[in-house]
Amino acid sequence: MQVPGPFEYERATSVVDAIGLLERLGSEARLVAGGHSLLPMMKLRLANPEYLIDINPLHDELGHITVEPSGVRIGAMVRHRELLESAELAALWPIFRDAERVIADPVVRNRGTIGGSLCQADPAEDLSTVCEVLDATCVLQGPRGERSIAMSEFHLGPYETAAADNEILTEIRIPFRDHGSNAYAKVERRVGDWAIAAAGAAVWLDGPVVVEARIGLTAVNADPSGFGEVYEFLIGKPCTDEVALYAGDLASRHCEPVTDQRGTAEYKRHLAKELTRRALRTAAGRVH
Ligand SMILES: Cc1cc2nc3c(=O)[nH]c(=O)nc-3n(C[C@H](O)[C@H](O)[C@H](O)COP(=O)(O)OP(=O)(O)OC[C@H]3O[C@@H](n4cnc5c(N)ncnc54)[C@H](O)[C@@H]3O)c2cc1C
Repeated sequence: MQVPGPFEYERATSVVDAIGLLERLGSEARLVAGGHSLLPMMKLRLANPEYLIDINPLHDELGHITVEPSGVRIGAMVRHRELLESAELAALWPIFRDAERVIADPVVRNRGTIGGSLCQADPAEDLSTVCEVLDATCVLQGPRGERSIAMSEFHLGPYETAAADNEILTEIRIPFRDHGSNAYAKVERRVGDWAIAAAGAAVWLDGPVVVEARIGLTAVNADPSGFGEVYEFLIGKPCTDEVALYAGDLASRHCEPVTDQRGTAEYKRHLAKELTRRALRTAAGRVH
């Protein structure tokens, strides 16, 4: 099926207007940002909203990348292309450019947004891992005001988030931390494809020694609650190739990849290990 079912179209003029429309139209309404995840699902009839609320006019309100003393605020309507081209983000967190370079193709990157990526909650979405590794916070706005939720708690499961039907994700906040860096490594079948598997890592060093680390895995059904073991192993050691490989091995034990057209579970587990090694090594090499 390549044609969506019938739907009514509304165009929001502001965040407040979007929330008002969500309230009025109820649970059969969906926001549409870039549309690169929602529209394919509608064409396949996997999503059948009665109302689409277009939030593209909110780019002025939610299209910011604002550097503040304590961190950076990224508006939910910032597009993949804008993340890729942001020199500020690349200097602060090179993991963004690592990931954006390999997300889809220019057509998708021109329209797709960070808000849509996080709200889609596709287990293969690269920016979810990036935001988790950077310890980001998601800001939601609804009829009763604003609330913040850690990225690590934003996804409740595949395609399911903590956002209520009448809430809109407005902003992602990332705190500054000194003496650290980060990286993302991904393997895809062909350029522009979704990950077979990918890994993100952030490390903080005291001299050559790791004092803190965070990792994230994409598309391998990871259980981040097990990553504490990886962090404990890394802390107090220099991030050598051997140490990073063992950390990758530990991380790969906390995922349950499934065999599909992208690869076997065994291959994906191998990638989880190897890509964690690469991301850790690159991140450590970037600390100065
Ligand atoms: C061919 C192709 C290849 C792709 N490859 C990759 C890839 O390699 N890696 C990757 O990570 N992604 C990939 N994507 C997905 C792409 O990154 C999408 O842009 C992204 O997943 C969704 O962003 P969007 O703005 O298009 O969201 P939409 O499709 O507009 O929305 C997605 C969902 O989020 C909700 N939503 C959107 N914005 C908000 C908001 N502010 N608040 C609350 N809910 C909101 C919508 O209601 C919908 O449920 C690919 C897409 C395509 C078509």
